[in-house]
Amino acid sequence: PRDEGDDLLRGLNEPQRRAVTYRGPALLIVAGAGSGKTRVLTHRIALLLRNREAWPSQILAITFTNKAAGEMRERVGQLVGESARGMWISTFHSACVRILRREAEQFGFKNSFTIYDSGDSRALIKRLVKEHEADAFGLTPASVQSRISKLKNELADAESYARQANMNDPAERIFVELFGAYERALRKSNAFDFDDLIAQTVYLFRAFPHVADVYRRRFRHILVDEYQDTNHAQYSLIRELTRPVSGASSAEPYSSGGMMIFEPEPAAATDALEGASLTVVGDSDQSIYAFRGADIRNISEFERDFPGAEVVLLEQNYRSTQNILSAANAVIGNNFDRKDKKLWTDVGAGEQIVGFTGYSQHDEAQFVADEIDRLRRSGVGYSDIAVFYRTNSQSRALEEIFIRSAVPYKIMGGTKFYERAEIKDALAYLTAVANPADEMAVRRILNRPRRGIGDVTETAIARYADEQQITFRDALANASALAVGPKIQTAIAQLDAVLAEASELMLPASGEVAPASSVPEGLTLLLNKSGYLESLRRSKDPQDEARVENLDEFVAVAREFARNNPDGTILDFLTDVALVSDADDLDDGTGSVSLMTLHTAKGLEFDTVFITGVEEDLIPHRISAGEPGGPQEERRLFYVGITRARQRLYLSLAMTRAQFGEVSAAMPSRFLQEIPAELVNWRQSPGDVNGRGGTQSRALNARRPGGASGGFGGGNRYGDDLVPLGRSQRVTDPSRFPNRVTAKMRDNGDLQLAAGDRIRHDDFGEGRVDTVTGEGAKRIAHVRFDTAGAKKLLIKVAPITKL
Ligand code: ATP
Ligand code: MG
Repeated sequence: PRDEGDDLLRGLNEPQRRAVTYRGPALLIVAGAGSGKTRVLTHRIALLLRNREAWPSQILAITFTNKAAGEMRERVGQLVGESARGMWISTFHSACVRILRREAEQFGFKNSFTIYDSGDSRALIKRLVKEHEADAFGLTPASVQSRISKLKNELADAESYARQANMNDPAERIFVELFGAYERALRKSNAFDFDDLIAQTVYLFRAFPHVADVYRRRFRHILVDEYQDTNHAQYSLIRELTRPVSGASSAEPYSSGGMMIFEPEPAAATDALEGASLTVVGDSDQSIYAFRGADIRNISEFERDFPGAEVVLLEQNYRSTQNILSAANAVIGNNFDRKDKKLWTDVGAGEQIVGFTGYSQHDEAQFVADEIDRLRRSGVGYSDIAVFYRTNSQSRALEEIFIRSAVPYKIMGGTKFYERAEIKDALAYLTAVANPADEMAVRRILNRPRRGIGDVTETAIARYADEQQITFRDALANASALAVGPKIQTAIAQLDAVLAEASELMLPASGEVAPASSVPEGLTLLLNKSGYLESLRRSKDPQDEARVENLDEFVAVAREFARNNPDGTILDFLTDVALVSDADDLDDGTGSVSLMTLHTAKGLEFDTVFITGVEEDLIPHRISAGEPGGPQEERRLFYVGITRARQRLYLSLAMTRAQFGEVSAAMPSRFLQEIPAELVNWRQSPGDVNGRGGTQSRALNARRPGGASGGFGGGNRYGDDLVPLGRSQRVTDPSRFPNRVTAKMRDNGDLQLAAGDRIRHDDFGEGRVDTVTGEGAKRIAHVRFDTAGAKKLLIKVAPITKL
């Protein structure tokens, strides 16, 4: 490297510097969490640009989330300034959409294709499952969807799968049928699902080498972050992009087989440009997407695939304190089949990890809120704090308490906004304009708002479209020819007219450029003239008021899009919306605590991290626990969570948890005892200040309840239950969970309570029973406490006395 890069190299250690300055075909950086992998990628790009070794347009960097892409772009921008523009820093999905939007016409699609998110594909699959009566064979929409997704990630299609499926098995036969029907429906609607985006790009590159060559010539430096989580399709995409330029003529694709048949890879052609330089970074201990087909072998086989590859190992962690790292190392050390790598840091031991066991998830959430408040008063900013959980539904209890405690927060990922019915409707209107072939979108808006168009009419339209060999959308333009009543004909004609008007505004004739404002204006037009907003405004349902607000917000999103993308088309807008990925967030959220799932947390870092719900059945999740490799993957997920923390780590759990409408006793996660005891300071539950030594031995000695007492703990819930894990001796060591064993569980036996009774609760004080629901061990008292508000208590174990 030349002098200009010096400041870029100064902030790096020796192996990092080696990685940043390596120039050659293939570089693999494997290293544990927080060792600067992402930083190496960023600096590598910056150095290439600074030294003018590459144009921005020659760089393709792949990150796991749009948010990570944004951060990387910003970092590179800070390092090299303006020259960072024009780079492709994006997720696999965004990169593929950009390629497909340009090239779709090469292989029989229109570039106006719709992108189906997983909710859209689920809806389509649901319809097909119903039509094929597949539930009779035990096929649910969810199972069909996940199987199809896995197959696509393996680059299989319906045809290739059918060739090797066991067609004697009726369930298998029907699955093959569904898979085929699903693909045909997508094609007919000019739509791609998320998995298609990648698989079809691979197909495109393999079938049309001259198209692939365009991108091979263009991208001379390809960098992939979080490589451990690439699946086969993504791996193949990288393979295709890094091949030498084939020099193929555009004459004929080498395979003219079925649309989706993946032929064996073409032999690399001889002449022309050598392959791009590839840098991948990853950590096999952080592979957490096996359920989406991620394959760690992509890392371990890198050297075989790219002979002569340079391998760099990083061992110094710059993120976390030694205590946090030691906990992480200890936990991950329990996974077999891994190369042991020990991370070290020179920032010192730092604070002890704090453990907390709450009585319920509300108690746990209250602890989190109180701690945040305390930290805040000692000068910690809200935005430096993150709270993680395993499943989205766990956020509810946290949110309730945060709202009550006035803790500002934002939920990252799972942006529910775009899953709301009214937003989906608005999107369907836009889609019906942008891609009229998308039958699902047109069907969706047929009777929204209510126009008196029911199933009968919908079927009549579909039949007419079939007969005339036109699209469902075009059939609307012939309302008068449909075999339906005159009133309905008028309604259809009106819908057609609104869509036509919006198309004129948003899809200008070729050569013309639509004004930047066309997206928000078109959206407003659709919502108004369709009568959609009007019908919500007229409604007396308070929920509809919220829907109007959400639509206002959506129009604001469209306006902002138009401001930021003066040349942006309706397609660009829909692409943006479709790609708002799990880890993305609408606002920048400064000044609020970040709530997110452990999956979303990957690659991020925060000064203070709370991992909540560290319980069996949550982490490891009960679904994964029984699957081969499941507990190991869950352990990696826990490891990812721990290693996000810079200075402070909290691990919390609850003794009872309401889930799926039931309250049940929870057990500490097996992963907790993998952390050396001296690293964790288990705090007393807040209500325990008076000390109740007696509870301790009772809790420990209590037998696991069985039979009539159902799944509820009259005491110890982590002794016998963990026996199958082969660790019972270790878990029954009370010093490991001091907080837990002194906790406020009781065996109230058959304490009788009825509405109107007054009780005293050890934490909440006195209150009055509103109602009692449930039976036997699951009886729940709904109590209105004099000062603590309304609570639901599991009578059998709650620390309560009848007054
Ligand atoms: P993960 O596996 O979690 O994705 P990572 O290996 O990508 O982690 P980074 O996020 O790149 O790690 O780095 C972790 C933190 O350490 C960042 O705050 C980064 O700026 C800092 N860091 C990395 N290398 C150095 C260095 N040589 N000097 C100072 N700080 C560093
Ligand atoms: Mg990283």
